[in-house]
Amino acid sequence: MIQRPIANPTLVASRSFVVACASVLTLVPVLTSGCNQEEVPAAPSLTGLFLSDIHFNPLGDKTIVDSLTQAPVSQWDSIFATSSQTACATYMGDTNFALLQSALAAMQQRVPDPDIIFISGDLLMHLFQKYFDETATDHSQTAYETFVNRTEQYLALKLSQTFPNAQIVPTLGDWDTAGGTAATFAGPGFLASFSSAWNEAVNRHGGAPDFQSTFSTGGYYSTTFPIDPRGRLIGLYTQPWAAECTSGCAPDASPVGNAEIQWLTTQLADARSQGLRVWLLGHIPPGIDASTTTQNVAKGTSCSAAITPFWADAYSSQLYELFAEYRDVLAFGIFAHEHFDDLRLARDSSGVPIFGIKLPPSITPLHSNPAFVQFRYDPAIGVIVDTTTWYLSNLASSPNATSAVWEKEYSFGATYGQSAFDTKGVAGAVEQVLEQTDARSSYTNYFPSQYPAGSTSVGLTPFLPWGCALDNLTVADYTACYCGK
Ligand SMILES: [Zn+2]
Repeated sequence: MIQRPIANPTLVASRSFVVACASVLTLVPVLTSGCNQEEVPAAPSLTGLFLSDIHFNPLGDKTIVDSLTQAPVSQWDSIFATSSQTACATYMGDTNFALLQSALAAMQQRVPDPDIIFISGDLLMHLFQKYFDETATDHSQTAYETFVNRTEQYLALKLSQTFPNAQIVPTLGDWDTAGGTAATFAGPGFLASFSSAWNEAVNRHGGAPDFQSTFSTGGYYSTTFPIDPRGRLIGLYTQPWAAECTSGCAPDASPVGNAEIQWLTTQLADARSQGLRVWLLGHIPPGIDASTTTQNVAKGTSCSAAITPFWADAYSSQLYELFAEYRDVLAFGIFAHEHFDDLRLARDSSGVPIFGIKLPPSITPLHSNPAFVQFRYDPAIGVIVDTTTWYLSNLASSPNATSAVWEKEYSFGATYGQSAFDTKGVAGAVEQVLEQTDARSSYTNYFPSQYPAGSTSVGLTPFLPWGCALDNLTVADYTACYCGK
């Protein structure tokens, strides 16, 4: 038995295995009988990644689309390799093959063997069906739905091939659906296909035995995860709660949205009874959409009428109550949807913090520089210690997958003077952004990953709508912050 440094025995028990004598077997096959072939656990790297809003577009080169539709995803790499389009997708577009390759290589270079990867939704391109209709010869509904499922399978394959030892936990965004040209609910066929494609990566350490069944039911799941041995990660499907969905994209959101709230309530109660902490992973975040709110005000809408929450009132009222009720259980949240690098702090009605939230930046260059976040964690205390964000800095010069430059943008701890990336650290950072000029200027630069032209309000000026969104999740609190000043 080869002894390897063991950082945390609890974790190691659930970590992937390596064969003890692999190198000996390769070099000297004749020695096989003398080699101890017992499997020993690999030590965790205590590292991980946040990535979000990939919005992968496989349709950028029309000349290869029919080949892709006819091939299994295991052959897609070789088909993409025949494309003459080798430049990374640029601003106002979604992630193409070159940019996906570049991003995966950059992540692998910085974090070669992550224990966990959070993908906070929107793996698929915007307006998928519109572009499929324009590029595929057979664009029947069946052909389209098959291609959507294959694209999800391809992303599961790429991520798993790049990071074979990582537990990869995805969640569905508003564009992860075969629903058409608008954001809609994912149907049963899509949910079943997605859960089958991602099952192995989600369940890497056996912590999510129910993944396929719960995900097929409603797009949500619960799993153990490496960061916190006393924690439970709950993957949420936020689309049924989305304000954008209740106003038109779903036939009737209420049964689905309420069923998920009931499931979440049961999960929280169960976690409390076992003394576990819960982390939430979703796409559409709680709180206020500062960008749309600002646009509404610019159009002349009155302040209170302009305020646009991300979640519909019918659900947010229940969910915010649930957050307050389970404040002892809820530890941290990871959401996205904005495509911008952002933070949120959920507080109770007295202003006391409940849990901190990270909104990772997007991989798609639609209106920001592509970026991802690496982190280190400490399983002894169950927290992320610090994060470092990397961004693609030369996108304007149309780099290809290998000439794209990914630069270090910032570390959370050094920028905001915090000793951990947990609720206390997020609360401290938010306070600094609201009160200190330097911290606010860092936040403003990092928000669009150094691409101010992509920001909906260049330089986030005036800052008030964004500042109020940081720690005022309810419409009432945000109104008091934004309209009261
Ligand atoms: Zn998105």
